[in-house]
Amino acid sequence: MHFAAGYIYMKKKKIAIFGSTGSIGKQTLEVINHHNDLFCVEVLTSNTNSDLLIEQSIKFKPNCVVIADKNEYKKVNDALMPYDIKVFAGEESLCDIATMESIDLVVMALVGFSGLKPTIRAIENGKTIALSNKETMVVAGEIITSLAKKHNVAILPIDSEHSAIFQCLCGEFLNRIEKIILTASGGPFLGKDKDFLRNVSPKEALQHPKWSMGRKVTIDSATLMNKGLEVIEARWLFDVNAKNIEAIIHPQSVIHSFVEFEDGSLKAQLALADMRLPIQYALSYPERLKNNFPKFNILSYPNLNFQKPDTNTFECLLLAYEAIEKGGNMPTILNAANEIAVESFLKGNIGFLDIAENIRKAMNKYTFQPLSNVDVCYQTDKTVRAELSQLLL
Ligand code: MG
Repeated sequence: MHFAAGYIYMKKKKIAIFGSTGSIGKQTLEVINHHNDLFCVEVLTSNTNSDLLIEQSIKFKPNCVVIADKNEYKKVNDALMPYDIKVFAGEESLCDIATMESIDLVVMALVGFSGLKPTIRAIENGKTIALSNKETMVVAGEIITSLAKKHNVAILPIDSEHSAIFQCLCGEFLNRIEKIILTASGGPFLGKDKDFLRNVSPKEALQHPKWSMGRKVTIDSATLMNKGLEVIEARWLFDVNAKNIEAIIHPQSVIHSFVEFEDGSLKAQLALADMRLPIQYALSYPERLKNNFPKFNILSYPNLNFQKPDTNTFECLLLAYEAIEKGGNMPTILNAANEIAVESFLKGNIGFLDIAENIRKAMNKYTFQPLSNVDVCYQTDKTVRAELSQLLL
C-alpha cells in the first residue's frame, strides 16, 4: 500500500521555484514538464532575467511570479497581463511569496546568500523545501535545521552529493553514520599546481569537465570551495560531525557520494551526472518516477578512480573545514568572502589563487561571534560583503 502515491495522483503537487531562470530552475521546469500529470507550477521567481521569466510563465501558467529587480516589473507585468498571472517585484516579495497557502513544495534555487531569508519564511510556513541553495545551510545550518524540526518540515537535498547521501540513508535512519564520503570531480584544474593556477583565466575556470552548472558554482568547483561548502551542508543536513565527513576526488563523477556505517558497509548512489535526477527525486520523494533521461551503464565505466584532494594547492577546502570547526559566524565570513572573491575573479580583477587568499584574510580579520540568532548571519554577511566589494569589485 502506497499512501503517498494515492495522494499524489489525486492532486498535483504545487511547486514554487525560486530562481527559475537559473540552471537548476530551468532543469526543474524540464522535470515538471516531463511529469505534468503529477506536478504543476504555482510560483516562478527570477532575479533579473525578465525575458526568460515571461517565456516560462506563458508556458507553465503559474499563479504568480516575482521579478526581484524592480526595474523589470513593468515589462513582466505588461507581458503577463493577458494570462491572469499576478506579478510582484522586489526582494521583500520573494519572502512574502514563500508563505503562500497554496504552495506544497519550494524549490530553493537562488544563488548564494540571497536564499536564506525566503527559505526561513517558507519553513516557518510549513513548506517542504527542495534545497539547491547550499549557502543557506552553510551560513545558518544550525538555525535552519532546528527551525525545520520545530515546524516539522522536510528539507530534501537537490545537490547531487547530498541527494546521493539521502538516498543511501533511506531505510537507515536508526543506524549511526560512521562516515560520509563526498565525491568531487576535481574540476578543470585537477592535477595542476600553483604555478599553473596563478595565471588561469575565468574562461578556463568555467570549463567544467563533467557538470553543466551556473557560473558561481562552476568556479567554486574549480577552487574546490564547492566541496568545502558541501561538507558544511552535509554536516547540518545529516547531523554528522565535520571530522567524519571526507571529500575525495573521483574524476568520473558517477558515484555521487558514499555513506559508511558502523559495520564497515559502504553504500553509494551511482548515476550519470545529470542534475534532473536529484531534482526529480526531491520532487517525487519518497517515490521514484520513470523518465526518459539517458541511463547509466556500469560497463561504460570499467575504471573508477579515487584520490585524496591536493589541499596544499586547493586551499579553499581546508578553509571550509576551519570555518566549520570554529563555527558561529565563521562560515558566513567564508561564504561572503568567497562570493565577492569569485565575482572579482570573474571580472578579471584578481587571480585564481587570490580567491583563497582573500577568504583567508577575511577569516582572520573579522570578529568571531557565536550564532545566537540569524541576525548575526545577516550582519556579518553585510559587513564582509560591503568591505570586500570596495576592495575587490
Ligand atoms: Mg554538488
